[in-house]
Order: sequence, then structure tokens, then C-alpha cells
Amino acid sequence: MINSTPIVKALGAYALADPLPEGLPPIAQNESAFPPSPAALAAGQTALASAPLYPDPDWSDLRRVIADEHGVAPQSILIGAGSMELIAATFRAYLTPGASVVAGQYAYAYAATCAAQCGARWAAVEEPGFTVSVNALLAGVTSDTRIVFLCNPGNPTGTAIPAAEVLRLRSNLPDDVLLVVDQAYGEFADAQRGAIFALADRGDTVILRTFSKSYGLAGARVGWGVFPPDIAAQVRKLLTGSNVSGISLAMAQAAMADQGYMRDVVDRTAARRDALAARLRALGLEVPTSATNFVLAVFGDADTASAANVALRDAGLWLRPMGGYGLPNALRMTVHEDATHDRLIETLQQVLT
Ligand SMILES: *Cc1c(COP(=O)(O)O)cnc(C)c1O
Repeated sequence: MINSTPIVKALGAYALADPLPEGLPPIAQNESAFPPSPAALAAGQTALASAPLYPDPDWSDLRRVIADEHGVAPQSILIGAGSMELIAATFRAYLTPGASVVAGQYAYAYAATCAAQCGARWAAVEEPGFTVSVNALLAGVTSDTRIVFLCNPGNPTGTAIPAAEVLRLRSNLPDDVLLVVDQAYGEFADAQRGAIFALADRGDTVILRTFSKSYGLAGARVGWGVFPPDIAAQVRKLLTGSNVSGISLAMAQAAMADQGYMRDVVDRTAARRDALAARLRALGLEVPTSATNFVLAVFGDADTASAANVALRDAGLWLRPMGGYGLPNALRMTVHEDATHDRLIETLQQVLT
């Protein structure tokens, strides 16, 4: 018997998302309802010719366009194979077995997996009304806490707290606690992004973003973050060298340079989302106010939610059930086309009447 380490042995088996049958609308994983910028597709085509060569291991061109667009220093940016790689590396750099990570009860589940990979304790605090409570996060901090993980806007709730609340969280946390702000949906709630990115200047806060959602490049696997210099130096030691392909880097760079296209996608997605949420509420469902590209539909009880899920799957609509988040009475649906929304509402009408 060859033993893996005790920490790895204690982890649950790697779980794949339910594979979506061919031809059905992708509405379970919060991918964009729109294609990426045409400029990104063209850049990817051109970059195919460089496939025989290793990519730029320092991501110089992509870091420069991100830095220009966001008013941060290029050296403060790290690029990951998705922001998932950056969450994992950041946690590994700062968590020892027995340390705790404080997060809201509905925080992004992959972060809890990353904490478990370090042998750390996931200390979840209540999110009243499906919304992160800064007071609850602060109350959850103990002498063992090394990281507070804040997903804002949140997944799977969709809700956002104002920038002022994020700043209040940071200024009331102990100096030796790292705050990781996961902004995978940040472009959908960008009003005060400057104040959020400036938190990295304090030396104790990391802000993560991704090309997977608003830029429509989930398959390219590119995430990025703004890190204080000392923290960037530590986390970078744990990233795989040449972690992102040259094709993906070229696509991300062109997508970042085409802010007009991304803003249009975000606006159109938000309009469809709000219309969908209103229709779901008219059916009597609770839908927390979403600042993302998806909605959480909360049913009266778990039985109704699972009956709805069965009927929706029969209709070719594969939503994400939320039992894993302690929400067996809820389903999460990514914003898609009007025809998909119509089919969803019709199916739910039949289930609920
Ligand atoms: C989608 C998502 C991510 C990251 O995705 P990548 O594709 O790895 O960049 C991170 N956090 C949250 C909350 C997400 O929903």
C-alpha cells in the first residue's frame, strides 16, 4: 500500500461537474451568454502559429494591458490558469494545517477545497438574506485565522456588498490576516473598483479577477489578481511555470483591450438577468438581487426545488442544484438567451401550479 499524505487522504474524491449533454444550453456554470470579443478570437487564431514555442513566462503583454486599464502596477499582477489557480496558490502560501479561513456560508466552494488541501479549517459564518455580513466575518476571526475569503459579488448568491463595506472589513481585520477578495463577477459591479484595487497597496489584501465570466473566455483559462509585492513574490513560487498558453494569453490581452465590447456584454447580460429575476419572482420564488451573470432561485422547500429540477432537466434545462451549498431548496441558473428563459418560466409554471 502506497499512502498519500494524511491531508490528501482525508480529501473527498475529485468531483467533476455533471457533463452537459450535447446541444443543451450551458446554464450551469456561469459561462457568458455571449461569444468573446471578435478581437480576442482573431488574436487567438494568429497566436496558433506560435504553438510550437513556450509562452512568455512573465505574461508581460497581458500584464501591461491589465495594468493600463485598471491603474495598477504591472508587477503587482499575477496571471493564473484561471483564478482558481491563484486561489489555490495563495492559500497554499499562507495556510498551515490547523489554520482557519473565515468565509461566508455561501462562499465559492472551490475555496473551501483549497483550504482543505492545506489541512486548514473552513470557518463559515452566516449570510443573512443571502448576503455577506461584514460583522459576521469579523466575529468569525480567531487567533488561528490566517485568511478571510470574500467573494464579492458572491457565487452562488449573486449578491454584492458595497465597496465601503469591503473597506470596513479590511480596516477592522487584524494586520496579520490576509484578505482575499474574489471578484470573478467584478465587472458586473464595477462602480468603485479603484477603491478595491487600492486595497492591495496596504500590503495585506489580494484582489482576484478572471476572463472566464464577463470576457467570455472560460475555456481559455486565464485569471489575474492584484497582489502586494511581498505576497506576489510568495504566491508566484507556487504557480506552475508557463502556466497559461500563448494562445490564451493573446486572447485575454485582446479581450482586455476591447473594453467597449465587454461593457456591452455586461449591460446586455444584466438587462436579461433582471428581466428573468422579475419573472421568477412573479412565480412566487425568492431571487436575491444579483450583481452577476446568474440568478439564484429559492423555492418554498427542497421537495419543490428538486421536482422543478427534474422537470427542467426533462425540458433540456440543466441548472445547478445547490444542495452542496446547504441550499437544497434552491437552483442556480446562468443568464442565457430569451428563448431559454421562456422555456424555463413555462416549465416552472407547470411545476408550481
Ligand atoms: C467562476 C469563478 C471563479 C473562477 O474561475 P476561473 O475560471 O478559474 O477564473 C472564481 N470564483 C468564483 C466565485 C467564480 O464563480
